Amino acid sequence: MNRCTNCVLPETFPGISFDEKGVCNYCSKFKGEEKLKEDKSQYLEKFKQLLQQEKGKSDYDCTLSYSGGKDSSYTLYILRKLFNLRVLALVFDNGFLSDQALSNIHTMTENLGADCQIFKPNFEIMKKIFKHAVDHPMYSPKTLERASTMCTSCIAFVKFVFLKIAIEKRIPLMAWGWSPGQAPIRSSIMKLNPALFKMTQAALKNPMKEVVGDDINPYFLTEVQFKDADNFPYSVSPLAFMDYDEDKIVAKLKSLGWQAPEDVDGNSTNCLLNSLANQIHLNRYNFHPYAFEIAEMVRSKVMTRKHGLEKLSESGNYAAIEYAKNKLGIK
Ligand SMILES: [Zn+2]
Repeated sequence: MNRCTNCVLPETFPGISFDEKGVCNYCSKFKGEEKLKEDKSQYLEKFKQLLQQEKGKSDYDCTLSYSGGKDSSYTLYILRKLFNLRVLALVFDNGFLSDQALSNIHTMTENLGADCQIFKPNFEIMKKIFKHAVDHPMYSPKTLERASTMCTSCIAFVKFVFLKIAIEKRIPLMAWGWSPGQAPIRSSIMKLNPALFKMTQAALKNPMKEVVGDDINPYFLTEVQFKDADNFPYSVSPLAFMDYDEDKIVAKLKSLGWQAPEDVDGNSTNCLLNSLANQIHLNRYNFHPYAFEIAEMVRSKVMTRKHGLEKLSESGNYAAIEYAKNKLGIK
C-alpha cells in the first residue's frame, strides 16, 4: 500500500492526495516544528493564566478523564506534581478495562494523591451498542476518520458522563490525557460551548438511542444543563503543550509504580476491546483508526516514522480479540 513518504497516512485515507515527492496534503499544510514550539509555549502560558483565574474556586480544581493508560497517567502526574491541582480522577469502565489498568489506577491515584471515582454503566447497554457497531458504522464518515465506531461510542459516554459530573460539582476544569496526535494544540485549552456541545451530543447520542432507546438518557446532558452556560468548564489537554517523549514518559511512570499492561495491543494501554474495534474498522475502511493521530505525531516529530509504521502494522492482540468477541457474544 502507498503511504505518505513523510508521515504514515495510507492512500486509502479519505480525502488524501500526494504531491510529486509522495508527500500528503495533510503534511503540506503542517506549519513546521518551529511554529509548533512557539504555539506550545504560548499555550503553556495560557494554561498558567487559566489556573490563576480558576484554581481554588471549587472543591476540586479539575477532573481528569482517567483510564490508567500511559497518557492519562502521565497527565495525572503533570496536574498533581507540576501544577499542584486538586484532581478528581474519573474512570469510565466500559466492561473491558484491563486488570493491569485497574491496578495502575489504584497505584497512581494513591501515589500521586488524587480522589478517584469509577463510573461503570450497565453492561447490557454497552453490549448492545458494541454488538451493533460490529455491522453498522453508526456515525458520520468524518467522525470515523479518527476513531472506530466502538471507540467513538465509548468516548461519547466518557465526554458526556464526565461533563455532567463537572457541571454538577461546579468543577472549573476538565483535563484530558489526549496525546499530541489526538488533541491539536489549538483546541488544547477551551471554554466549552453549550450550543456546540448540544450539536455534538445529538450527533453521538441519537445513533445510540436507536439501539437502546431511552436507556441512553442518563449518560447525556439534560436541556436544563445546557442552559447552565456559566458552569460549563474549560477543557484542557496538557500533553498537547507539554514536552512529549514516549520513552521518558514510560520511565517516569515506572518510577511512580505504573506497569505496562501485557494483555492489550500497542495502541492502547488500557482497553481489551481496542484490538477488536481496530480490526473491524480496518476491514470496513481499509485504513487503521489510529492512522490519523499517529500521522500527526510522526509529522510533529514526537514519534519516529518507523515506530508509527510498526504501530499501524500490528495485527492486534489475538487473545484480547477472542476475549472481546466472547464477552459480546459474537462469532
Ligand atoms: Zn503525510
